[in-house]
Amino acid sequence: MDKNDKLCLLNPGPVTLTGRVRDALRRRDLCHREPEYAALQNDVRDRLTRVYDETAGDYAAVLLTGSGTAAVEAMVDSFVPRDGKALVVANGVYGQRMATMLERHAKPFTLVCAEWMDAIDLTSVQRCLSLDASITHVLTVHHETTTGRLNDIPALAAVCRRYGKPILLDAVSSFAGEAIDFRAWNIVAAAATANKCLHGVPGVSFVVAQRSLFAQQESAATTLYLDLFQALEQQEQGGTPFTPAVQSVYALQEALRELDAAGGWLARNEHYRNLSQLVRNGLAALDIETLLSDPAAYSSILTSFRLPRGLSFDELFRGLREVGFVIYAGQKHLEDIAFRIAVMGDLHEPDMHRLMRTFDDILATTSAGALL
Ligand SMILES: *Cc1c(COP(=O)(O)O)cnc(C)c1O
Repeated sequence: MDKNDKLCLLNPGPVTLTGRVRDALRRRDLCHREPEYAALQNDVRDRLTRVYDETAGDYAAVLLTGSGTAAVEAMVDSFVPRDGKALVVANGVYGQRMATMLERHAKPFTLVCAEWMDAIDLTSVQRCLSLDASITHVLTVHHETTTGRLNDIPALAAVCRRYGKPILLDAVSSFAGEAIDFRAWNIVAAAATANKCLHGVPGVSFVVAQRSLFAQQESAATTLYLDLFQALEQQEQGGTPFTPAVQSVYALQEALRELDAAGGWLARNEHYRNLSQLVRNGLAALDIETLLSDPAAYSSILTSFRLPRGLSFDELFRGLREVGFVIYAGQKHLEDIAFRIAVMGDLHEPDMHRLMRTFDDILATTSAGALL
């Protein structure tokens, strides 16, 4: 086993847990038809709408048992009308996944897809919106975890506002870690998960949506399990349509308390930014380049790097794993050229310093080091 007890998960979720959140899994058994579960669920739903000030009151949080993809799919399926049309704005795996969902649900959509290394294509968005009045919703990803790019939602929102189109946002890897200006950007719903920036355990995810949305339209859901309208109706009465992952909800409650005590999303954003900067500076000193040419395009949460010449991902992965660090490669065609480092979870400056020392060691003992 590792020389260090703590496994540092530098992959983008699930994250390294704090002791507090892990201990919450050991709370007493609870049936979800008991009033204690209703109180737990009400508290968690309320806290989720208060992570960002402006969602308190006008927005409702709907909890789901399932991973982040379940929340994104529930949002897409429940709100995009069967006779409506979605404009999907993608530049990575997760944007394209939203298009795949619409395809499965047999709902009409247009896909505006940029290269994964590029920013979202606002010129094409503008053209689509001006030419196609049947578009009802714009769907996009806030933090595209494929590369670590924080998409320019303010700029997208400005275009959408001109045409009066609301945005459904995949905020799975940004919720509680980056600014989300729900009102100014006209984000009518955002989907996220317990086990990325919120530092909970896998198993539950959620959608934060404008309450008025549920009144304005009927459920568009083609699926039973992912129908947010049905889930909201029951959750408003303290119930739940299906068996929830009770222990994951316990852990999410503790994670939300911890977030609050630590100063909320803004403090977490600063913490992430500091850790990511340490990693970027440290790797730059080893001549390891970022994958995106503009470092300002990155989120505070994750950075993608080019594998140095002479070092394979497997070698790097094994070297890091031996001392307790887990990293991810790039996805799809980026697999052989990139690796990614996320800083979510119970990670701190000393962890990053140790990570940099490990990179040093690995480069010194491989052919990559010899080439530098
Ligand atoms: C992680 C992630 C998802 C999917 O979450 P799962 O929990 O793996 O289902 C969706 N979108 C983004 C942007 C993500 O980072």
